[in-house]
Amino acid sequence: MQRRRISILGSTGSIGVSTLDVVEQLGGREAFEVVVLTGRDNIDLLARQAVAVGARHAVTSDASRYAALKERLAGTGIEVAAGPDALVELAGLPVDWTMAGIVGIAGLAPTLAAARSGATIALANKECLVSGGALFIDEIEKAGSTLLPVDSEHNAIFQVLDTAQPDAVERIILTASGGPFRTWPVERMRDVTPEIAAAHPNWSMGRKISIDSASLFNKALEMIEADRLFGAPGRRLEVLVHPQSVIHSMVGYRDGSVLAQLGAPDMRTAIGYALGWPARPALSVERLDFAKVARLDFEAPDETRFPALRLAREAIAAGGLAGAVLNGAKEVALEAFIDGRIGFLDIALIVEQAMEAIGAPAATGIDAVYEADKAARGFAAGRCGVTRA
Ligand code: NAD
Ligand code: MG
Repeated sequence: MQRRRISILGSTGSIGVSTLDVVEQLGGREAFEVVVLTGRDNIDLLARQAVAVGARHAVTSDASRYAALKERLAGTGIEVAAGPDALVELAGLPVDWTMAGIVGIAGLAPTLAAARSGATIALANKECLVSGGALFIDEIEKAGSTLLPVDSEHNAIFQVLDTAQPDAVERIILTASGGPFRTWPVERMRDVTPEIAAAHPNWSMGRKISIDSASLFNKALEMIEADRLFGAPGRRLEVLVHPQSVIHSMVGYRDGSVLAQLGAPDMRTAIGYALGWPARPALSVERLDFAKVARLDFEAPDETRFPALRLAREAIAAGGLAGAVLNGAKEVALEAFIDGRIGFLDIALIVEQAMEAIGAPAATGIDAVYEADKAARGFAAGRCGVTRA
């Protein structure tokens, strides 16, 4: 049998490690030829992964780590490359399937390169859709590539959305765990540290997405992502807090039915669905024990304590590249919070100020995405020195 050629962008991250686990579960080297693995800082892990799966290329986006990676892979026959240009070039090598698992806007160019080469894109990197918006989808369509959402909520919606009857869909219900501060008064949230904010109650994820889950900026990005993927005139987009993270999202239909996808909080189910699609492969992941789960709780989100949700709604309404502005400002503010330069509540404050100052630039082309991102970053960087809520 012909092996499927795959690349994993961001293989050293949380999504990347889970993807390699799924690849192993679904046949490993017998079933897959791993063409490219990429990472940035964790050269040891990247080298170990590349050797374990017999990758053809290992790439670090950090040019200064070339020698270190080269040394680790000496004698293995694995090709080594480094730097952002090499990353984009190798992401564009022809493969059947690419996992887009880099975090942030840095994932946009390599993901586009993969799509342009015709690979099916398993999209974990939400920033491609949030910042690239309609332009990203246009590029995917132009390339004739297929986009499979991996973000658990969007994967859930993808699984239960009846695409044969688009008019029957009334609402998309994105579930949210509410994060570690779901019940906290705002005064208590003011002084939280990055360590506390990164401790997600249900999901084990990368540090940045975990902190974004605490501020609900992750859900804000996911609202924009859902609007890009599943939005249609007359269709409502709702956010529902569901602390157990068992229902991964739902679709409401015009006959009153609501279809949901449920599962243990483990990204390997969504990754496996994208790797097996359109088939549903067997996966060794935890099965839901409903008696143990015992109850499912729901509550409306609080947009006063979590302004990120309101900002996402405003970005969707504004259209254009408002999503790129929201995300660019958020990425800078998040870094500043991690570095201890601003407080937790300042993240939303700075994003809101950036959106007010920059507005929604016109989506004239991919270059405009980078310009909007840069403008938002510049604005936010200026504010990060002087703001403290
Ligand atoms: P992570 O921080 O664990 O890993 C990110 C990966 O990207 C690593 O391989 C890292 O080396 C690489 N990387 C970081 N900065 C880079 C740069 N500037 N250039 C090139 N490579 C870079 O992140 P993660 O949690 O795996 O998330 C990856 C993406 O998937 C994010 O967009 C996130 O929002 C999304 N996502 C993650 C989860 C999850 O459970 N972890 C769930 C849904 C969606
Ligand atoms: Mg998600």
